Amino acid sequence: MPNSSHQGDPLDVGLPWVNRFATLGDDFYATLSPTPLPAPYWVGRSMSAAQAWGLDPQWLQADDALQVFTGNRPLAGGLSLASVYSGHQFGQWAGQLGDGRAILLGETPGWEVQLKGAGLTPFSRMGDGRAVLRSSIREFLGSEAMHGLGIPTSRALCVTGSDAPVRREEIETAAVVTRLAPSFIRFGHFEHFCHHGHHDQLKALADFVIDHHYPACRTDARWGGNPYVSLLAAVTERTAEMVAQWQAVGFCHGVMNTDNMSILGLTIDYGPFQFMDAYDPGHICNHSDHQGRYAFYKQPNVAYWNLFCLGQALMPLIAAQEDAIAALETYKDLYPRAFARRMAAKLGFADLQEAHRPLIEDILKLLAADKVDFTIFWRRLSHWARAQRADDDSVRDLFLDRAGFDAWLLSYSELLAQVPQGLAADLMLKINPRYVLRNHLGEEAIQAAKQKDFTVVAELLQVLERPFDEHPEHAAWADFPPDWASHIAISCSS
Ligand code: AMP
Ligand code: MG
Repeated sequence: MPNSSHQGDPLDVGLPWVNRFATLGDDFYATLSPTPLPAPYWVGRSMSAAQAWGLDPQWLQADDALQVFTGNRPLAGGLSLASVYSGHQFGQWAGQLGDGRAILLGETPGWEVQLKGAGLTPFSRMGDGRAVLRSSIREFLGSEAMHGLGIPTSRALCVTGSDAPVRREEIETAAVVTRLAPSFIRFGHFEHFCHHGHHDQLKALADFVIDHHYPACRTDARWGGNPYVSLLAAVTERTAEMVAQWQAVGFCHGVMNTDNMSILGLTIDYGPFQFMDAYDPGHICNHSDHQGRYAFYKQPNVAYWNLFCLGQALMPLIAAQEDAIAALETYKDLYPRAFARRMAAKLGFADLQEAHRPLIEDILKLLAADKVDFTIFWRRLSHWARAQRADDDSVRDLFLDRAGFDAWLLSYSELLAQVPQGLAADLMLKINPRYVLRNHLGEEAIQAAKQKDFTVVAELLQVLERPFDEHPEHAAWADFPPDWASHIAISCSS
């Protein structure tokens, strides 16, 4: 058994534990303990995540915490387990999956606490239950960067490392990410119980999610009063909102399998994700995705496809198929509206109007044609909007098609003239980040960390926590990526 002896007594972090997921019973999980790692060290810590969780940030400084969040010491009051789920991977039914390397330590009010990379579980299949340093740093910085951008996501409390070897394409070293979310339940959890015909468990799971996370579904008069259709509609709405935010910031998830889709509409399971540099709708960030199933522009449709899988899984609880379809079809309106609203705000318009739509479509075409750096464009446009000086060519200079851009800018200026000048720029500078976690920035942090220099992780975290601030001392991180950035290959191997 992967259960191994912990070093030391359970540690009390001074938080109340509720362990609600555990109340679902052992059809849903296996209880087990993390497997310790030798001589752990801190790689990164997020005081902001500690604060969100309610943990005294001082506590995160202690050696005890280092042991707990490496899986070397249990938490008093927690109940550690690995949950079972299934799912569709790259469009195919993949059968049983489950937490193969993530272990839930327990649950305090509002937060589940998971260690990712904490050793073998009954669901590890061919894997080793571990995560390597580079992917753990990416998940840590990626989640906190998304939170800084205001995009729904799991949080990352810390990363610890160990020199214990982990075999991937080459020998690397182990790391553990502590992540937090109100729930890590996935579409795949529902698919699992539906596929196996375990309808009692399916209902228990749906009731659990509704009672704890979507209580309004119980009293929703729409959908014939069926709370499970209401749940499907609510998840559809949150997912549409989340993906709209991804598209508006240029975030590519990379592995949108149904087992990586959160029932709460959170961005979870950071793997080969990427914040795009040059705007390219066809961009594929996962080098293992040979068909380009999860290319950037396909994300909204893939989310819809995944929601259908969830709908299918909920069918045993839904009498009227047409209601389920109607709930899913709300996506066709919700997603484009959420996206357009977001894009209008990026242009400085607090309220979306019909006249904004062609402006949005046209600028995306121009950006794609010239492969303009997505983040730099929006940030420069935000600064341009402040003064709107005719001799300010900082945005125009990003384009090869100057005539095309000039024509667009003329139409844009006319609409912008209807908004008080300062207001538009203020809005834009709060929605168009100066900093995103570009691949080459993550790579800088990883290379330093491999040499046991963790300062880049810490500094990058500080900047990404406040991505709309100027941080002049880190201006280089807001600049165009170096040439080598396009050669970074990020695959599913993590
Ligand atoms: P992912 O696509 O990375 O979310 O992983 C898909 C499935 O593979 C999940 O069930 C993971 O728990 C499992 N998995 C990935 N890597 C490992 C590993 N190194 N050891 C055990 N299970 C793993
Ligand atoms: Mg996963």
